[in-house]
Formats: sequence, structure tokens, C-alpha cells
Amino acid sequence: MNVADLLRRPGTIREVHLEVPVSGLENPSATVDADQPLTIDLRLESLTGGIVASGRVRGQWRAVCSRCLLPLAADFDLGLREVFEEDPIEDETYPLRHEEIDLEQPIRDLVVPDLPLVPLCDDACLGLCPSCGANRNEEPCHCGSEARDPRWEALRALVITDDPERRSESN
Ligand SMILES: [Zn+2]
Ligand SMILES: [Zn+2]
Repeated sequence: MNVADLLRRPGTIREVHLEVPVSGLENPSATVDADQPLTIDLRLESLTGGIVASGRVRGQWRAVCSRCLLPLAADFDLGLREVFEEDPIEDETYPLRHEEIDLEQPIRDLVVPDLPLVPLCDDACLGLCPSCGANRNEEPCHCGSEARDPRWEALRALVITDDPERRSESN
């Protein structure tokens, strides 16, 4: 984005509204679709030898619930305030080169740390049953009571091989 006009007169303000996709907004658990545009509303203000960009970045990330694997999506709305200057301070300000600023890196630095590492459809999500795979949010799972506990296997075998004659004797 060219900011030559702003730099010519310090104190000048330009409002910017952009709807553009930004690639690479992801972590191992969540992603902003590459073709999903972000809504960017910024106010650029020129200082002597620099630009302050402040405003909001909105978009939507997608993920699957870490417990029940249900697809989920959520909107984000983040505040941005960054300084661009010709001699940027590492990890603090961004470069201003050839009277241009590049918003991509600051937007990535803003959005990526905000993506969830452990996305959940709900804090109370019960997840999937590790035995039968049932979604325990939707149906009660009876695996807990029916699980084949090895200590019961011997008893089960006894019932099956039970001699009918002996059973009648005991009656
Ligand atoms: Zn879930
Ligand atoms: Zn189950």
C-alpha cells in the first residue's frame, strides 16, 4: 500500500477499508480459509518518517472440535495498532520501504496467535466415546456399563457352559 501522500504531510490521516484474503493464517488446529476475505478497517496516520496503522481486523476461522471432531467456525474481531518506519525495531515496528507499507505481516502476527490451539465446540463438550465412537453430546453411551472388563470374562464363560442338569438341581 502506497503512503507517499501521507508521508509528505505528517499528521495526515487516511481511512482504509479492505476486504482481502490473507494466506497462511493457520496453526495446527485452526485455519482461516485462504479464499475467505478479511474485513480490514484501518486509520493510517503519518508521523515524521513513519505511519501508525490502527483499527480492526475481522474474519472467521474454521476448525474441528478437539473432543467430538464436529466442524466448527467462529468469527474474530481483533484490534490492531502498529507503527511502520524506515528503521524498524525488531519485534516492535514494521518496515516502511519505498513509501509503501505491507499490512500482510502485521495481520498475520495479529491473527495467528489468536487462533485456538485446542478448539472446542463447547467448554462442556463430552467428546467421543473411546470404545464405540459415539458422540456423547448427542446420545448417552453405555460402553461404561457394558465394557468387557476382563474380570467378568471368566464369569461370562461360566454362564455359557453351565450344565442344565446342575441348574435344575439347584432349583
Ligand atoms: Zn465438541
Ligand atoms: Zn461407547
